[in-house]
Amino acid sequence: ESSTQTLGFQTEVKQLLQLMIHSLYSNKEIFLRELVSNAADAADKLRFEALTDAALLEGDGELAVRVYFDKDARTVTIEDNGIGMSREEAIAHLGTIAKSGTGEFLGKLSGDARKDSNLIGQFGVGFYSAFIVADQVDVYSRRASLPADQGVRWSSRGEGEFEIATVEKPARGTRIVLHLKDGEESFADSWTLRSIIKKYSDHIGLPIQMPVEKHTAEGESEAADAAPQWETVNKANALWTRAKGDISAEDYNEFYKHIAHDYSDPLAHSHNKVEGKLEYTSLLYVPGRAPYDLYQREAPKGLKLYVQRVFIMDQAEQFLPLYLRFIKGVVDSNDLALNVSREILQTGPVIDSMKSALTKRSLDMLDKLAADKPDDYATFWKEFGQVLKEGPAEDYGNREKIAGLLRFASTKGEGDTQNVSLADYIGRMAEGQDKIYYLTGETHLQAANSPHLEVFAKKGIEVLLLTDRIDEWLMGYLTEFDGKSFVDIARGDLDLGKLESEEDKKAAEEAAKDKQGLAKRLGEALGQNVSEVRVSHRLTDSPAILALGAGDLGLQMRQIMEASGQ
Ligand code: ADP
Ligand code: MG
Repeated sequence: ESSTQTLGFQTEVKQLLQLMIHSLYSNKEIFLRELVSNAADAADKLRFEALTDAALLEGDGELAVRVYFDKDARTVTIEDNGIGMSREEAIAHLGTIAKSGTGEFLGKLSGDARKDSNLIGQFGVGFYSAFIVADQVDVYSRRASLPADQGVRWSSRGEGEFEIATVEKPARGTRIVLHLKDGEESFADSWTLRSIIKKYSDHIGLPIQMPVEKHTAEGESEAADAAPQWETVNKANALWTRAKGDISAEDYNEFYKHIAHDYSDPLAHSHNKVEGKLEYTSLLYVPGRAPYDLYQREAPKGLKLYVQRVFIMDQAEQFLPLYLRFIKGVVDSNDLALNVSREILQTGPVIDSMKSALTKRSLDMLDKLAADKPDDYATFWKEFGQVLKEGPAEDYGNREKIAGLLRFASTKGEGDTQNVSLADYIGRMAEGQDKIYYLTGETHLQAANSPHLEVFAKKGIEVLLLTDRIDEWLMGYLTEFDGKSFVDIARGDLDLGKLESEEDKKAAEEAAKDKQGLAKRLGEALGQNVSEVRVSHRLTDSPAILALGAGDLGLQMRQIMEASGQ
């Protein structure tokens, strides 16, 4: 046929296909979750586009996914009546990977199947997972609104290339036929497919149907020529609309994987229905691991927005501040208009008040995680702590709450592990101590060995050791916690207040008087290089120390400014 073309996969797709087939063999059944997830997304997109163009529904608004098989032909088919794909879309979406940072990601893979399967999980294998169980995949699709003769057939053996042809396809949507590999015949089975659907796709808000199993008296399957009756296998209502008590932990986890395109379980979720002046339901999650592109500007962030159960957009960024960009979830509003756009979302009292409530919910969810599951919180902190540290600057109003969620290394902690909370610190403050002491440094080793710590070590006072790049900037926005102010021990004239006894003070004053001559001579010798030479009581072992003035820029900040040419 003249419309038939053979095209090569993008290099990254070829690499991914190879890796996937070799590292995901222990979890083959996920192909069905991926294909059903795509079908559900396609239904969401059709519903959304039909809001402004009802003709797209072509008189068939009952959206569903159908899964069926043919034991003899060894095929499993997944069919939907969603938005479908045009020929160009099939080439673009099923021949390339559009995600940013793909090259970098593939570079990180080690060749060790176990480690790689974790990484691939994070990346999301999507459609290509069909090739875990199939040695040939045929996709038939027609984009809603295109005529029946503008269907497309995409076909590939998952090696280097795929074939594309224009075909007749009367029914709108997509049909994917998997030709099972030798040894994978067991997937062409009603019970197996039903259990996989129940396990992974129960939360999908779209009916997933399979042919009704008919049995004769002898228990034999009935003749195949009768048109099948369909029955819905999953619960088929949007998960967040269900009562909390009817949702299992598994359901919550699988729903997370569907919306976040992640493979690992989340650490926590928070599901809330808000009624009253504003009406909306939110379901928020804390992921278990940072996406490979967390620090990329264009990385996906934001919530999935629905209005009255109709999908409106992915990555609605207006509902959470940037420092919570790792939170995933859904928000379904009854107050916004169905034709709401990104522009409209930029402003307005409804959005503002939802944003502030969702921010609070997210912080409360983290607080609860820290209290109930300290190990999981430690995981969270390792993955996302640096992002949360942006919080006090971005969200001054919540800085006390955010500060409570921060974790630090300290002189009484475990090496450089950041696991000391401010509450821990305050809980073990020395008698008479009313300040939170900290020291910033380039590395943990450098900070932990700083002469500034000598007097604190002698008195048994804990000092937080801050060595992340962002820390000095963070401390510019954190002035106190629980009524206690933060003190940078490397700055100015260290006032230990009540921590010093009268004798200490007297001895220090006398020493200062005694050594005044020496300080003066040193000051003259150092000249312009220092602003002052002072007799210090900070040191017990070292003879001298360089300290910063109270108003000076910290060392990290100086380096950042110098590096940027200021
Ligand atoms: P993702 O779902 O993360 O975008 P996938 O690899 O699963 O990645 O799918 C790639 C793209 O192929 C989808 O984004 C979509 O554009 C298209 N696609 C896949 N399956 C379908 C389908 N059943 N109907 C319409 N488009 C589809
Ligand atoms: Mg997908």
